[in-house]
Amino acid sequence: MMHPLRRDDYTVGWVCALDVELAAAQEMLDEEHPKLERDPADNDENLYTFGSMSGHNVVIVSLPAGRIGNNPATAVAAQMRATFKKIRFGLMVGVGGGVPSAEADVRLGDVVVCVPAKVFGGVVQYDVGKTTASGFERTGSLDSPPQVLLAAVKQVKANELRNISKLDEHITKLERLTAFKRCKAGPDILFEAASRHEGGQTCDKCNSNQHKAREPRNSGEEVVTHHGTIASGNQVIKDATVRDKLSAELGGVLCFEMEAAGLMNSFPCLVVRGVCDYADSHKNERWQAYAAGTAAAYAKEVLRVIPSTAVDKTPALDKIMNQRTTKRRLDNDSTRKSSKRARLSRRKGKFDDLGHDEDNRTSSEDDENGGSGDDESGSSGDDESESSGNNQSESSEDNDSVSSGDTDSVSSGDTDSVSSGDDESGSSGANDSENSRVDEQTDSESESESQWQ
Ligand SMILES: [Zn+2]
Repeated sequence: MMHPLRRDDYTVGWVCALDVELAAAQEMLDEEHPKLERDPADNDENLYTFGSMSGHNVVIVSLPAGRIGNNPATAVAAQMRATFKKIRFGLMVGVGGGVPSAEADVRLGDVVVCVPAKVFGGVVQYDVGKTTASGFERTGSLDSPPQVLLAAVKQVKANELRNISKLDEHITKLERLTAFKRCKAGPDILFEAASRHEGGQTCDKCNSNQHKAREPRNSGEEVVTHHGTIASGNQVIKDATVRDKLSAELGGVLCFEMEAAGLMNSFPCLVVRGVCDYADSHKNERWQAYAAGTAAAYAKEVLRVIPSTAVDKTPALDKIMNQRTTKRRLDNDSTRKSSKRARLSRRKGKFDDLGHDEDNRTSSEDDENGGSGDDESGSSGDDESESSGNNQSESSEDNDSVSSGDTDSVSSGDTDSVSSGDDESGSSGANDSENSRVDEQTDSESESESQWQ
């Protein structure tokens, strides 16, 4: 058996949540490496799997048993980042609830990959925001995946079109294990959105007249990959009406899951989800293992198209995060300074009716923005409550970095291009996070979906 590598030899961090996701990830390794000695000084409680995959040294971690959701994901990834300082990028790989629509023929076992689409950078946290007179307003924006991973997604797609993708090969290899066989998962049935599950582990009692008619796929198209927005939140969505309503509000999402929002701003990564149910009342766990396998196989394909030399040229995550933090601080400072300047000139305008043109312009911008909780004192947003599921320091930086709608898009776009070269256009509105009404839920089932009903 080979000697253990050093910590600094590991450049890819792979995060998953469920045991089947961990098993699928481990099975994708070309070679498993011996465990590294733990250093008690690290204060790191994660258990890691080490190995090589498609020429990269990968360290895999899963959330602790019984812990799912954004907060545990944030904590586990933060520990991993602190222990493995040479990690260049992350992969968040697992299952999710698919959103079939006229635009995307999402089916069980398909793979969904987060890429910037419309106003979002790849992942949107749908359950963080504030309640206003006109309804619930989503706040906060999440960073896009690193550029090298977005480039790899394109490359994988090109390989699929050229019929030289090895996705099927990886999946077939995994299917030698009984748990991961597609035939074990059962039929892929989509019910009409209005149909309710009649109870029990299976849909035997559910009305088969409510099955949605779909054309069978061509042979050789068992697993299709979809690229677009992934919705992340702390609740399990298991209601087709809620699913479709949220998706419509967000401009069309491909799947729902529960961890990605906890990572995007603190652990730059690509989110890959195998579709294991349709986020409706009929959801069960029968497709989980197979879907975990297709997602892991896709992630392996992503690594296969990234030369390890390209990884060496990518700055380590720690460096990226420091740049982001610094950039956000600078944005903070400049936003506060300009608000202060604007306020001063507005006050000056009140005393001095002459009013320079430029001052007036600044004043009116400030007026426009002024309502959004911009703190008069210029201090760091003391009146903002921590609300988001991801409670990393970076994300709270993000929250208070933005005091107004307009500067928001500028600053988040900028932050991105500085740190990872993404050209994400600004995202979802103001970032202040008062009155958030997130019900944190780390348990697997939710009572609180009624919020969207
Ligand atoms: Zn059912």
